[in-house]
Amino acid sequence: MRGEPHGAVRRDDLVFARVREALASGGCPVCRLATHAVQRFLDNFLYERVNDPNTRQEVRASWGFCPHHAWALPAQRNPVLGVAIVYRDLVGALLDRVNAALRGQARRRRDAGSALQHALLPAAPCPACLHRQRMEEVYVASLLEHSADPEVRQALAGPAPLCLAHLALAASVARSPEHLTRLLEAQRQALAQLEADLSELVRKHDYRFRHEGLTPEQGTSWTRALEVLSGRDPNEVRSAPDVRPRAIRSPTGR
Ligand SMILES: [Zn+2]
Ligand SMILES: [Zn+2]
Repeated sequence: MRGEPHGAVRRDDLVFARVREALASGGCPVCRLATHAVQRFLDNFLYERVNDPNTRQEVRASWGFCPHHAWALPAQRNPVLGVAIVYRDLVGALLDRVNAALRGQARRRRDAGSALQHALLPAAPCPACLHRQRMEEVYVASLLEHSADPEVRQALAGPAPLCLAHLALAASVARSPEHLTRLLEAQRQALAQLEADLSELVRKHDYRFRHEGLTPEQGTSWTRALEVLSGRDPNEVRSAPDVRPRAIRSPTGR
C-alpha cells in the first residue's frame, strides 16, 4: 500500500481504466477523455445542479457557458427545462444591468456606457471549460504515472499520440523526468511515423506514383496531422453518456 486513503487508490484505478480505453480507441487520448468528461459534466449540471444555489452563483459569475459549451447543451438529453431555469436567471440579471444603464443614461451620467461594459464582463471562466482543464490535468498525470506500462507506450507511439496542447500540458505537469522522457520517446516515434506517412501521401499524389496506392495509414495521415497539431474535433459525434433520465433535483429536495 502506498499509504493513500483507499478512496484515492480506487479513483486512480478508475482514471487509468478510462485512460486505457481512450488509448485503445486511437487519437489523442486526453482530447477524447476531456470531451467525455465535459459531456458528463453538462449532463450532471442539467439534472443535478440546476437548482443548487452555489452552481447558480458560479454560472451567474461567468454569464453562463462559453459559446462552444452553451451550444453543446441542446444536444444533451432533455435539456429544455434545465436550460430554461438557469438562463431565466441570467436573462433576469442581464435585464437588471440594462435597466441600471438606462437609469444612468437618464441621469446623463457620462460613465453609463463604460459601467455597463464593465457589468457585462464575465467575472469567472466558463464552468465547463474549467472542468475540462481540471480533468485534462488528471488524465495527463495518469498517463505520465503509467508511462512505463508497455500498453501505454505502444499506443502513444502508434495510433494514439498526444496532440500539441496536451503534450505541452504533460511537459508542465510532469513531476518526474523519467516519466516525461518515456512519454517523449513514444511521441517521437509517433511523429516520425506520421511525417513518413505524410511524405508518402504527398509523393503518391504525383501521377507517376499514383499506381502504387496508399496504405490506410498514409490515407488518414492528413487528418491525423490536423489532430496532432490542433487536437481532436470537439464536435465529433459522441456516444450518449452513461446516465439514465432523472427528474431535476429541486431546492427543497436537496
Ligand atoms: Zn489532445
Ligand atoms: Zn466552455
